[in-house]
Amino acid sequence: MTTTCPLCHTQAPTITDAALKAGGAWQCTRCGQKWDVLRLATAAAYTAYEESRP
Ligand SMILES: [Zn+2]
Repeated sequence: MTTTCPLCHTQAPTITDAALKAGGAWQCTRCGQKWDVLRLATAAAYTAYEESRP
């Protein structure tokens, strides 16, 4: 799991991997999106889907 914003690829300095896995969330300082484990998984799945398209 990553603590980098999937949208703008800004590192999230305010939250650790462990905190994220424990149910934490953070708000991206650049684009303002809020991310937690579920949203990160959704974004990752969508990215994989996009890349798998012909
Ligand atoms: Zn962002």
